[in-house]
Amino acid sequence: MSDETILYSYSPATGEAIGSVPVTEIQAIPGMLNRARVAQRRWGDLALEERLRILPRLRGALMAQKEEIARLVSWETGKPFAESLAVELIPGLDMIRFLRKEAGRIWKPERLGLGWFVHKRSILEHLPLGVVGIISPWNYPFGIPFTQVVVALMAGNAVLLKPSELTPLSAVRLVEIFHQVGLEPGLLQLIAGDGSQGAALVSAGIDKVVFTGSVATGKKVMSSAAQGLIPLTLELGGKDPMLVLRDANLERAANGAVWGAFTNAGQVCASVERCYVERPVAEEFIAKVVAKTVQLRQGSPLERAPGGEVVVKPVDIGPLINETQRQKVQAQVEDALQRGGRVLCGGRPRTDLPGYFYPPTVLVDVPPAAEVWQEETFGPLLPIAVVASAEEGIALANQSRYALSASVWSQNRTLARTVAGRLEVGTVWINDVIYTYGLAATPWGGFKESGLGRTHSAIGLQDFTQVRHRNESYYPLTSELQWYPYTAKKQVWLERLFKFLYGR
Ligand code: NAD
Repeated sequence: MSDETILYSYSPATGEAIGSVPVTEIQAIPGMLNRARVAQRRWGDLALEERLRILPRLRGALMAQKEEIARLVSWETGKPFAESLAVELIPGLDMIRFLRKEAGRIWKPERLGLGWFVHKRSILEHLPLGVVGIISPWNYPFGIPFTQVVVALMAGNAVLLKPSELTPLSAVRLVEIFHQVGLEPGLLQLIAGDGSQGAALVSAGIDKVVFTGSVATGKKVMSSAAQGLIPLTLELGGKDPMLVLRDANLERAANGAVWGAFTNAGQVCASVERCYVERPVAEEFIAKVVAKTVQLRQGSPLERAPGGEVVVKPVDIGPLINETQRQKVQAQVEDALQRGGRVLCGGRPRTDLPGYFYPPTVLVDVPPAAEVWQEETFGPLLPIAVVASAEEGIALANQSRYALSASVWSQNRTLARTVAGRLEVGTVWINDVIYTYGLAATPWGGFKESGLGRTHSAIGLQDFTQVRHRNESYYPLTSELQWYPYTAKKQVWLERLFKFLYGR
């Protein structure tokens, strides 16, 4: 919630106000961009090794403050403390490790082979883009922007960060940490506000936008970026399918389904949002999933003891981020029920708890046209459909405009790889879900409407640079065969050259 000048942050678990930040005036953005440009020129000119020197201090600061950061994220999002600690911190720490080990290799100038042109030399140089605008969502308010910011900076860019209006405090903390370890403040500046500030940032004259959020907003960002032909990376929504084949380890598959669907209360771009199970094992698998789901403990991750001390509570699922999200989830359940679907557990908002709690919900017999199969839920719903064959599962899995990630569950490597190879998604896991987001070495990004470009991995690191090709000729000739004048003698030489080079 915000008034004109202040952005307030509330705990979605308890409703209590936990802090506020001043909204960045839109008129201030051009000045911030200028400041970033000035700082970036010096920073971008430094040797990579110089920039990387900040990383050990950054790692030290994250390690020293990890509990505090995790508590803040749990207050702002309501997610269990264990999830905040692991999923908000590990991706950043692993990215720091990866950058220290691999950035020199990934961004080093690269000599290209030129075939017959052995007397010439071509080199690719990976250069900073300039000022990168990073716009981030609320579901991982520290982990997502942290990995993107650290890569953008190490590539030699400056960053203007626009976090979600629902979780500004986590981003304030993130920026403070970079400044604490000695980063020049102009290199990383925070723009606090909502979509208006985000839109103003995209059209301010930045050199790249890295947007993580919904498909609908991603399309607006892309359309605005097109006006300035700004390169962009889009990390958008998902509707991830899980295919449980008849030879799967059902205990592992059921545990994977429950965690994959309900971690972060299902508010994960790569949540398991559709589950297809082969008929021979469907009954047993569904029974296991329901039995495990009803055991999950839901509640506020933190509580204040009477003395004011913060106590971490042992919960598995927190609340949804706000009432709008909760109503969206409930509307999908009602739509599924109206179409003949059945709820096996959950299915109604929790009125016994404060905040925006919705129980983990398993649905079956829901027809394919229902919203819960078509639209991203971003909540704790797991619809399960029984399929006659892997073939039917593959066809259903691919029937989506979203294509971020998917999982296949089978103990037969050949079969699992064959099925995985037919899924149209950016990442496919065999017998696992989601976790590679936390690994810096593996790429992240989707096909179709789930996004464009990649973050993480060597591919993601390249996406934060622009490439200059340098070609060199040092041999002592005064002219080239293809230069003027076009004489008959040259024509003869050219024909001979054709034969020699490409005739065989
Ligand atoms: P959102 O699209 O509502 O907002 C994302 C960010 O964009 C926020 O900071 C918001 O203020 C800003 N914004 C809003 N309008 C804008 C505009 N016109 N121009 C520029 N910026 C604008 O998304 P959300 O609700 O914060 O996040 C949830 C969505 O994010 C889900 O769809 C989820 O799947 C997706 N997501 C994707 C990934 C991924 O890696 N693919 C990761 C996390 C979340």
